[in-house]
Amino acid sequence: MHPTIAQKDVTLHIIKTFGLRMSKKLGQNFLIDEEIVEGIVEAAEIQPGDTILEIGPGIGTLTQGLAESGCKVVAVELDNRLIDVLGKTLAGYDNVRVVHGDILKIDISREIMAERYKVVANLPYYITTPIIMGLLEQRLPIERLVTMVQKEVAERMVAPPGGKDYGALSVAVQYYTQPEIMFIVPPSSFIPAPSVESAVIRCVVRKEPPVDILDERKFFRVVKAAFAQRRKTFTNNLKGAGIPAEQVQAILAEAGIDGSRRGETLSLDEFAAVANAWR
Ligand code: SAM
Repeated sequence: MHPTIAQKDVTLHIIKTFGLRMSKKLGQNFLIDEEIVEGIVEAAEIQPGDTILEIGPGIGTLTQGLAESGCKVVAVELDNRLIDVLGKTLAGYDNVRVVHGDILKIDISREIMAERYKVVANLPYYITTPIIMGLLEQRLPIERLVTMVQKEVAERMVAPPGGKDYGALSVAVQYYTQPEIMFIVPPSSFIPAPSVESAVIRCVVRKEPPVDILDERKFFRVVKAAFAQRRKTFTNNLKGAGIPAEQVQAILAEAGIDGSRRGETLSLDEFAAVANAWR
């Protein structure tokens, strides 16, 4: 029998026993709320035989919840000091393998043999976007990502066109996945408490893109250009990205888009039409 790590007294005991000083730089905010861990595990809808990639296991709080559900867990942790701690807190869980490394640098496909897997993580907030975008752009065989992120980032990921939250991150996440905010998490669910609210977001990776695109690189260049300067019109932002003025007019005419609009009003379909008209 293991004590549940996702409790304040157990977490404080582990911190004290190992003399840990939490690193703000590495985004170390450990969960102390059992219900949140259960909620994350539920959102992952773990099936027998599932493999989970966990990013940043910390002292093993979420890892334990995942391991208890019977799946295989590969947990990648950057902080050397925590590797020994995890060896102790997760002793006896034969279904967990801890990998010491930087999630932004390791070759994930060498660490995970499964044909398909899920990503579950309470992410280090200082690199949320590079982690999520990196995983999606590598086109790894990921079925879904269930991650804890800052609430404000979760809102940007699910934002529809037209509002201030909608940007390049919204378009990319919605292009690759179907995102849904599952629940909001208060600062008091962590030690130390972060200064912002958090949210658990589930992103189910699409089998097919939601729009037809001839050249994905062009699509993302158009999206990046559209949001480069939010106060500028779409026409001016396209010109700013180095497309000659006459060509911009021709592209917009073919795509049927009014160039005086702001990038943030364009839907995925409209971005696709522009990218496809750019030859
Ligand atoms: N999973 C634990 C929990 O829920 O309590 C800890 C989550 S804490 C928010 C983020 C964890 O990510 C920390 O343990 C931190 O050391 C780790 N981390 C930070 N940067 C990382 C990186 N580049 N690669 C892997 N892990 C990283």
